[in-house]
Amino acid sequence: MESYKILLSEEELPESWYNINPDLPRLPDPPLNPQTRKPMGPDDLSVLFPMGLIMQEVSMERWIPIPEEVREIYKLWRPTPLFRARQLEKALDTPAKIYYKYEGVSGPGSHKPNTAVAQAYYNKAEGIKRLTTETGAGQWGSALAFACNLFGLECTVYMVRISYEQKPYRKSLMNLWGAEVIPSPSQKTQVGRTILSEEPGSLGSLGIAISEAVEDAATHEDTHYSLGSVLNHVILHQTVVGLEAKKQLEKAGDYPDLIIGCCGGGSNFSGLCFPFMLDKMKGRNVRMIAVEPTACPTLTRGIYAYDYGDSARIGPIAKMYTLGHSFVPAGIHAGGLRYHGDSPALCLLYEEKLVEAVAYHQNPVFESAVLFARTEGIVPAPESAHALKCAVDEALKCREAGEEKTILFGLSGHGNFDLAAYDAYLAGELVDYEYPEEKVKKALEELPEIPAYS
Ligand SMILES: *Cc1c(COP(=O)(O)O)cnc(C)c1O
Repeated sequence: MESYKILLSEEELPESWYNINPDLPRLPDPPLNPQTRKPMGPDDLSVLFPMGLIMQEVSMERWIPIPEEVREIYKLWRPTPLFRARQLEKALDTPAKIYYKYEGVSGPGSHKPNTAVAQAYYNKAEGIKRLTTETGAGQWGSALAFACNLFGLECTVYMVRISYEQKPYRKSLMNLWGAEVIPSPSQKTQVGRTILSEEPGSLGSLGIAISEAVEDAATHEDTHYSLGSVLNHVILHQTVVGLEAKKQLEKAGDYPDLIIGCCGGGSNFSGLCFPFMLDKMKGRNVRMIAVEPTACPTLTRGIYAYDYGDSARIGPIAKMYTLGHSFVPAGIHAGGLRYHGDSPALCLLYEEKLVEAVAYHQNPVFESAVLFARTEGIVPAPESAHALKCAVDEALKCREAGEEKTILFGLSGHGNFDLAAYDAYLAGELVDYEYPEEKVKKALEELPEIPAYS
């Protein structure tokens, strides 16, 4: 009998996360304090994060045990299924085998609770009462609201005003899980009040919302800030995805020739790929492709340099591929892929050519997403559909070449709250955006000056 799903039992849920730091070809350049421009130490970060997470940020231990309380909650939806996309393969008439790891089975509907639950746990363990964060489209905000609710923490989400008004259902989910959702810019913070006094009708931006969430956390003793991508500890927590996928492929008697994931800040891509990277560094032939929107092509068009993580320049300065901290991407429907930078570890691996990257326009991405919904039945999140599009292209190349490759891609979430985007696609109303060349130059001019240090 041909199997469609490769499942693991709850006992097979990984017991540790995989930390890639000790296996990197070299260590990434350290994050810098935005005021002093000197490498940041644990003390610089302790206003915003608990020690448990700060230690993970810099850990050189290869395996970090997943606390039992976190594993218990993971069991609500983990291990997640690995699917063999047999109906899609048939529709494409490809000899390639296509597998996808599906993270949409979590309550919030994406991979994001893998880190939200861990972050809530470590904050709770250190006596924190409330977490603040920002959200654009609402995926991260709803994941953190879900996690805080389970651990009895309060949660304050600064939601970019335009999304707050246009995407009411993610806000409803956050409220349902007990979070306070504040349209940003708001009167709650100094940053917000300043912006509103200058521009009362401001629709907000992710950069402004980050600044508000950070200010709120930094000015309240019992409150910390939480970030849903980019940082090492976030990537670490997401490796549970790749560790499971590796076991599942073993069960199926397969190993991927190609691993594909969409890339916003790099967490679902890295989480899926890093457990396979060790094999690659030992010489195993496995390609890894990060997929971006052409409207926000961080790896494919960005610059590898130190840059600010946020537009208000209050967070750490990181060495990464960047489109510039003042970059405001076009309003594409993959809201989770609109960050100007990427995870420093992933950027280093890209610079070292261990990872490849491609960028796609949103119309062809939605075309693949519709094919997927009509064959496999799941409506992909617009972000995840970028990975799918690349998998489809690679499977079609296999058809041309008559090659029987094994392709693994990450389906990081479902798109059940993104149906307005599908409506727009079906009505032929989606616009494709190219990233203009002048912007690369502008980003270069705005990079912070970094003094030499040793
Ligand atoms: C947030 C999000 C992404 C992008 O974030 P990464 O950190 O790059 O993974 C991708 N897919 C979904 C479904 C998301 O919610």
